[in-house]
Amino acid sequence: MGLSPAELRDPLPKIDLKDLGPSELEAFITSFGKEHYRAIQILRWLYLRGVSSVEGMTNLSKRFRQELSRVSLISVLKPLHIEQATDGTRKFLFELTDGNRIESVLIPEKSRITLCLSTQVGCALGCRFCLTGKTGFKRDLTVSEIVNQILAARENLPHGTSITNIVLMGMGEPLANYTNTMKAIGLMISPDAFKFSSRRVTLSTAGLLPGLERMAREGAGFRLAVSLNASDDETRSRLMPVNRLYPLREILRVCRNFPLRPRTRITFEYVLVENVNDSPQSARNLLKILRGIPSKINLIPLNEAPGIPFRRPSQERVREFQEILMEGGLTAIVRTSKGAEISAACGQLRGKSPVLLPS
Ligand code: SF4
Repeated sequence: MGLSPAELRDPLPKIDLKDLGPSELEAFITSFGKEHYRAIQILRWLYLRGVSSVEGMTNLSKRFRQELSRVSLISVLKPLHIEQATDGTRKFLFELTDGNRIESVLIPEKSRITLCLSTQVGCALGCRFCLTGKTGFKRDLTVSEIVNQILAARENLPHGTSITNIVLMGMGEPLANYTNTMKAIGLMISPDAFKFSSRRVTLSTAGLLPGLERMAREGAGFRLAVSLNASDDETRSRLMPVNRLYPLREILRVCRNFPLRPRTRITFEYVLVENVNDSPQSARNLLKILRGIPSKINLIPLNEAPGIPFRRPSQERVREFQEILMEGGLTAIVRTSKGAEISAACGQLRGKSPVLLPS
């Protein structure tokens, strides 16, 4: 995997150290004839201490720092704008070097602070209840653009708090940007980089079958969430065009055999849409199709938005749906969408926040 030592040492163009996963960074550093532990020191400088220049890595010799500076750089992502909702949710808007914009959302809850990351600029999947899907796909994010979202959010946390959970659930389909997403997750769970427990990192997919199968083969240690949203193919294809390519039974087959860690379950997300997928019959169907899969359901009443041709069901309808699932033995939680007033809730990210430079 990755670049050869000769390619890695080519001085042009400079390599962004944050574009290298843990094993690539090690290959890069050892290509200078340096010891393996130097790579660990650099990972710690980059992700635990958050340095923004090689010069700042003071436990490396001056000569090595000069050599490194000649061939590499360290990118930094600064928020263009931060918006805060009354419930404490904060939305970060970032402008990338090519002018594209992405968003991340920080969601404080009672006992945790979750950061929702983007993995692409826009999204090609076009789920019909999602504003990101309406903007279309521009490009994949690099590894550095993914992990820099964490560093930027961390810098803007209230004093004495820290990010406890990461969800890859923002703009884009993470499995459509498989390689960069996996390298970024490698950095998130590396004990020498971000040090997140793999139990606190969740990848959410709309069900891109090839990526899901690859993840299952490679034995992902982190958590998996699948955006399901329907219990039959006709309804799912209506909401998520990708279902025509990768139908429900194929996704559920992979989920059924997914190598889960002990005591973990797959989270199935289900956006409840009035008169589309919210009937008692849909709930009973859901119980049937998830039988045999260690599952937890997150019910997300639709976040209505201009341009989205659906409505949110009533609270009674949501409760009735939840009760059927719970009576059938499933854990079903209604997710109160946070950050809706600043368009930071599920399916509302577009990279189009107003541009206001923070003071
Ligand atoms: S819900 Fe996710 S996969 Fe679907 S269009 Fe939106 S960002 Fe893409």
